[in-house]
Amino acid sequence: MDRALVEAAYIAAAVCFILSLMWMSHPATSRRGVFVGEAGMLLAIVGTLMLKEVVDYPMILAALLLGSAIGVPLAYLMPMTAIPQRTALSHSLGALAVALIGVVETVGMAARGEGPSFASAALAFEMLLGFLTCTASIFAFLKLQELVTTRPMLFRGQQIVNLAVFLGAVAGAVMLAMHPQGGAVLVAFIALASIFGVLLVAPIGGADMPTVIALLNAYAGLAASAMGFALGNKLLIITGALDGASGFILAVIMCKAMNRSFANVMFGGFGQVVAGAGGTAEVRTVHSAGQEDAALMLENANSVVIVPGYGMAVAQAQHKVSELYQALSNKGIDVRFAIHPVAGRMPGHMNVLLAEANVPYERLVEMDEINGDLPVTDVALVIGANDVVNPAARDDPKSAIAGMPIIEADKARSVMVIKRSMNAGFAGIENELYFLDKTRMLFGDAKDFVGGVVKQLSAAGRAH
Ligand code: NAP
Repeated sequence: MDRALVEAAYIAAAVCFILSLMWMSHPATSRRGVFVGEAGMLLAIVGTLMLKEVVDYPMILAALLLGSAIGVPLAYLMPMTAIPQRTALSHSLGALAVALIGVVETVGMAARGEGPSFASAALAFEMLLGFLTCTASIFAFLKLQELVTTRPMLFRGQQIVNLAVFLGAVAGAVMLAMHPQGGAVLVAFIALASIFGVLLVAPIGGADMPTVIALLNAYAGLAASAMGFALGNKLLIITGALDGASGFILAVIMCKAMNRSFANVMFGGFGQVVAGAGGTAEVRTVHSAGQEDAALMLENANSVVIVPGYGMAVAQAQHKVSELYQALSNKGIDVRFAIHPVAGRMPGHMNVLLAEANVPYERLVEMDEINGDLPVTDVALVIGANDVVNPAARDDPKSAIAGMPIIEADKARSVMVIKRSMNAGFAGIENELYFLDKTRMLFGDAKDFVGGVVKQLSAAGRAH
């Protein structure tokens, strides 16, 4: 009876997780997706606590309190712009948990004198993925938080060293699968797998970390799934597989949107300082304008397309941008937002920020859809975006971002760009958009500048 209840809770939890993923894939239903995912997790935990194998409730309570003491501050203290690093930290803890359970089970098998089995092989596999994901995620966190250099760390013979460490870790896994044991083999295996995690992430540039995190997510999911096989827990198999597949799909989507291959993200050393990049920008002329001019141009437009990017997130300008949207809409101007799939530093970054600032969802238009309308748009207002509006991706086959689909802001009748300087964006390359005759550079912090424009608009409103 107990077992039937647990199984029922597990099936319900699995259904919740599937619905959660389905609903989270669309912003309009994403909140529901989060809630149903949380409900699923609660069912999974309660179901597991009903298992008769569970003997030590006080220990579980202590672990629950400790986990909450870490998780709750993490959720509240880290800002939205730090979501990628927060995700990296949570992955590291999840992977560590999986890996440590693997160690306990392997040592238990060794104590019982068990030989090779499907379970020992699954455990070796999940420990390998678990430990490497744990250290790789911690290193990804350090890079994203800029506690270590965000540039790719490259050295001579790197790939040979990486391969040697990886093969060493795999050899350890094979030995443990053939003969579950504690002691030196287990310790050496853990060390090699953990070192490999760091080596895997070191050559990858900081801004590619979100893609790497999606991949690490997939690894952690696979590790959990393998553990499900080892422990005979169907829910772990299902959730691990869902996690693994969704992480992988997300990484593929991100690579496609950047027009880069997995190999290029993992081994390309993207983000190294390019000689001359950005440095020549100062000597060329651009047309700049102030808040008053910007307000005037916007007021005289019939249609405005706002292109938000990473700078809007850094400046936390989304609320001011929402006010600008309101002010212009109140004047009867058609305002829409052009959303590039990799604007910002994580998938859905712009959607989340604009939704937080209550911009109506139907005003957010995907890149492919908005591009056709840009030639008949009066003003393209680029707020803290750079690479995603860089025409070089379309026009220059030699560019570092050649082939990456862009939002064609340069085709609008006029363009305004809010950013602080002529500095390059993530790809480290110059942007011809800024030098066009029809472009006005609005230099300043996105939040301050947009706030100033909103003030100008309301002052103008009173004057009329
Ligand atoms: P971007 O190319 O990185 O450019 C952001 C611009 O924002 C910078 O040029 C910067 O110029 C400006 N900025 C920074 N702080 C600002 C502030 N406080 N106020 C105003 N402007 C500010 O960003 P993007 O156009 O959004 O492109 C995203 C890039 O990240 C792409 O290359 C994409 O491939 C990559 N990427 C994205 C993801 C993802 O999932 N979204 C994942 C991995 C990589 P100033 O310094 O002059 O102000």
